[in-house]
Amino acid sequence: MAKRMLSEAEGYDLLREYGVPTPGFEIVTSADAAAKAASAIGFPVVMKIISPQIVHKSDAGGVVVGISGAAEAKKAFTQIVESAKEYDAEAEIKGVIIEEMAKPGLELILGGKTDPAFGKVITFGMGGTLVELMKDVTLRILPVSEEEIRTMVREINAYPLISGYRGMKPKDEETLVEIIAGVAKFFDENPQVTEFDINPMRLYESGACAVDARVIVD
Ligand code: ADP
Ligand code: MG
Repeated sequence: MAKRMLSEAEGYDLLREYGVPTPGFEIVTSADAAAKAASAIGFPVVMKIISPQIVHKSDAGGVVVGISGAAEAKKAFTQIVESAKEYDAEAEIKGVIIEEMAKPGLELILGGKTDPAFGKVITFGMGGTLVELMKDVTLRILPVSEEEIRTMVREINAYPLISGYRGMKPKDEETLVEIIAGVAKFFDENPQVTEFDINPMRLYESGACAVDARVIVD
């Protein structure tokens, strides 16, 4: 089969089975349905484009955060679809995903890729657009033990942001280790998955939440 990108919703559904916390969501294909679904989920919500051709949704004007009412949700639906069409007239638009809006947290990246020589590799590092420039990322070849995952977490330069820096409360390192173990298992047990990333995953003093998921299958 040809390489294809699963939708964010399909990615969430797969990852949730491996213990990755994800926002609740609904998929809609009309502005009226958007207003209804957003009200049912509870405000604020985030709305994003669903298109197999649009990999970076923000670049396409395909992400609206902090939507606080039904009228706003309705408007956001039209705006997202229009922006996406403008960005790529050929893109097939499957609909719009409406998600619970996760509270702010430390933004991390979890990912996996298939190296031609080493096979499946998982990566972990700091997220956020500016921090990505610094490439504060570490990786391991699968299989990976829990002990190695703990080492991985501690070896990024930004580790003090997790363990507690200058009076900041520590983040939930135990949950982070469990989530990395979960995604490693997910990658290991799904041979059709050649690549994935959770960019970002938000880590809290207690718990975490993935707020994006991109899974490539072959
Ligand atoms: P992109 O395809 O551009 O990477 P994302 O799904 O990562 O799109 O959304 C862009 C940004 O919007 C995220 O990095 C995050 O900061 C914010 N965001 C996305 N979804 C949520 C959510 N459910 N709750 C809170 N913030 C979100
Ligand atoms: Mg993203």
